[in-house]
Amino acid sequence: MTPSNRDCVGAGCDRLSLCEECDLLQRNPPLPPRGASRCVRCGYRLHRHRPASLDRTLALALTGMILFVVANSFPFLSFEMQGQRTETTLFTGVADLAEQDKPVVAAVVFFTAILAPGLQLLLLLIVLTPLKLGGRLPPGYPTLFRWFKTMLPWGMMDVFLIGILVSVVKLSEMATIVPGTSLFAFVVLIFVLAAAHSALDPDIVWERVPLPAQVRRAPRHGEPVLGCDVCELVVPEQEAGRDRDGRGRRPRLRCPRCRGVLHRRKPRSLQRTWALVLAALIFYVPANVYPVMTVTSLGQTQSDTIFSGVVFLFEHGMLPLAAILFIASIFVPLLKLLILIFLLLSVQLGSDWRPRDRTRLYRITEAIGRWSMVDVYVVTILVALVHLGNLASIQAEAGAVFFCAVVILTMFAAMAFDPRLIWDAHGSDAVSRAESARAAGAPSGGEPNAVRASSSVASGDRAHAL
Ligand SMILES: [Zn+2]
Ligand SMILES: [Zn+2]
Repeated sequence: MTPSNRDCVGAGCDRLSLCEECDLLQRNPPLPPRGASRCVRCGYRLHRHRPASLDRTLALALTGMILFVVANSFPFLSFEMQGQRTETTLFTGVADLAEQDKPVVAAVVFFTAILAPGLQLLLLLIVLTPLKLGGRLPPGYPTLFRWFKTMLPWGMMDVFLIGILVSVVKLSEMATIVPGTSLFAFVVLIFVLAAAHSALDPDIVWERVPLPAQVRRAPRHGEPVLGCDVCELVVPEQEAGRDRDGRGRRPRLRCPRCRGVLHRRKPRSLQRTWALVLAALIFYVPANVYPVMTVTSLGQTQSDTIFSGVVFLFEHGMLPLAAILFIASIFVPLLKLLILIFLLLSVQLGSDWRPRDRTRLYRITEAIGRWSMVDVYVVTILVALVHLGNLASIQAEAGAVFFCAVVILTMFAAMAFDPRLIWDAHGSDAVSRAESARAAGAPSGGEPNAVRASSSVASGDRAHAL
């Protein structure tokens, strides 16, 4: 029988979690059905119990794959104006953007709306099917699941759906829009994919990956440990795998389970985040000043900036959509940049002001950033739908390129920032290490004297076991 990390006993590796947001080492409590455990210090959700995870996720991934094929094979929307008609598939918008010399925007839309969701489904099926069928797991199995996790933030089909809504409303005065077969498949797919993500318990995959014996031991008293961001394994630092980085200079620590790179803190986090934030701030200006598209209709030409697009919806009485577009395209990117600047400055000034609230702010910036892609999708859909020559056509403009760059740069900036620095600046690294040492030093199998993550049932938020 292959050893699994479930073999760890007492204070062993699988019973411990190193919070990826505040770096506190904690003992995982047993979870009630559908219950969850949260970090006692910052409130980050560490684990959630998901019943019948394998069967449910596999069924949903299979359904999702069928819907994905349908969504990409048939017309998505049709545009009818004065007897002329154009049909568009999901891919047409991408091809039209590339034709209009906007290859970067085309690539981003292709990746976020088509490739990333498709790859997520494919990787889920490849990883989960052998688990269901039993027998030997294919080589490279942990790497495939690691790629799945990397893809997660980049699948934005839900945001694309809002883009479709805005586009249809914008065009409704100009022409008739007819939904195609693909649109229905696409809408159902969004819910199926979301359900698959929520049904998936990553532990069902990771516990099948064999671990070397020396990693399956509990960390010794005071021994430094590292937490893997991908598979959440807690590894005694000296047992981590080592290889060279791309230039062969510095030895790099690798997770013995998923081969992900391990680091105590994200390397050069502050410098990289500052660089990305400043670049996004610079691009934010042309993104709002330059038009994102030009509409030619019956010989008349009109250029639209992001703001004039919001005003158009507002003037035509479509308040909810105007509000969505304003919040997603103008307010959210700026808010996200301001929060990141605040976090960077607070860390650099060594502030100890409310670390838990600052960690929560960071979590918000990570969650909201993707919604700013709405406007890029609106331009893509309009460009794909409206190309009837002089009668009606829509051209993507430079503003869309800058705007797309702002969204991607802010997403990378949030990923580059290491929230654990907030707690270091708070002077709590020492506390964390002391707590880590206490947790590691707990007698194996005995009553833990270490910090224990709080657990709660899904409906309540009843914390106990502190
Ligand atoms: Zn935490
Ligand atoms: Zn790992």
